[in-house]
Amino acid sequence: MIDPFGRTISYLRLSVTDRCDLRCTYCMPERMTFLPRAEMLGLDELDRLAAAFIRKGVRKLRLTGGEPLVRKNIVDLIEGLSRFLRSGDLDELTLTTNGTRLAEHAGELARCGVRRVNVSLDSLDPGTYARITRGGRLHQVIEGIDAAIAAGLEVKVNAVALLQDNLHSLVGLAEWAHARGAALTVIEVMPIGSVEAERIDQHVPMSEVRRIFELRWTLTDLARRTGGPARYVRTDEGGTIGFITPLSRNFCDGCNRVRVTCSGEMYMCLGQAARADLRAPLRARTEDDTLLDAAIDEAIGRKPKGHDFVIRAGAAPAVERHMSVTGG
Ligand code: SAM
Repeated sequence: MIDPFGRTISYLRLSVTDRCDLRCTYCMPERMTFLPRAEMLGLDELDRLAAAFIRKGVRKLRLTGGEPLVRKNIVDLIEGLSRFLRSGDLDELTLTTNGTRLAEHAGELARCGVRRVNVSLDSLDPGTYARITRGGRLHQVIEGIDAAIAAGLEVKVNAVALLQDNLHSLVGLAEWAHARGAALTVIEVMPIGSVEAERIDQHVPMSEVRRIFELRWTLTDLARRTGGPARYVRTDEGGTIGFITPLSRNFCDGCNRVRVTCSGEMYMCLGQAARADLRAPLRARTEDDTLLDAAIDEAIGRKPKGHDFVIRAGAAPAVERHMSVTGG
């Protein structure tokens, strides 16, 4: 799949549910409205969608949400998709999780051929964690991370840099991750969906985060890429830190991704409204995928050049849908 700007699309992020057991303050409002269950695709339909993208050249598949591990029987989907790892059609099957149920599932994920997981964790202080997530219990996530490491999974800890909640504890979070052999990736908060807070009160430019890390370590830029938008550095103590900078240094030129939601809506850019309905073609014909394939091709032909996130006082979100719809 090649888009109008010559970019090869080889990475699919598939959201398997819009539900989440947390309510992170920067992600969604406290009283979030979720999709009616009837709108959600079945696991068999999610499998068929993933298979269609893999047939078209997707080499990396990330399951996300909402929270992917709250979807009932999610391991059945992952087990089914692992056939593409065995056949060599997929290089990587991975997921992004908040980690609350990882302790339960880590062993099964490893058995299905998952090698790496991204675990979202913004603070190591139980009170701050509970406040950011509106009720999350930190010990569950730590147990999840430890279980994942024990199962042989590579863990990357993802933290959103938040001016008031964690800016000055990111160094400690990096040290904690590095002590476990995990990388820490820091993400700039994006103006996606309306939340109670003003984005300008949450946002920290990555240059400021980097400056704070540089008070602690000498950082060396690395050429290493993992197929996503992060740029990595190595600390002089050997730890890895990633930076995802959708605002301060937009990475759209190298975009290789598309997203599909749990109701079968395809989004060609995280920061734009452009979308395509894949559920209707998926359901219109169950005996073959010609309509589905045509809908995907048509959508790739409309992939926008990039997003134009801006954060300033009173600015409306770049898009109305929350991050929990597409899963990041
Ligand atoms: N529940 C899973 C998790 O927590 O990783 C997957 C979905 S969650 C929406 C994916 C990632 O998006 C998380 O790392 C979360 O912190 C991040 N995220 C949510 N809203 C964001 C925003 N407005 N800006 C930047 N990152 C955001």
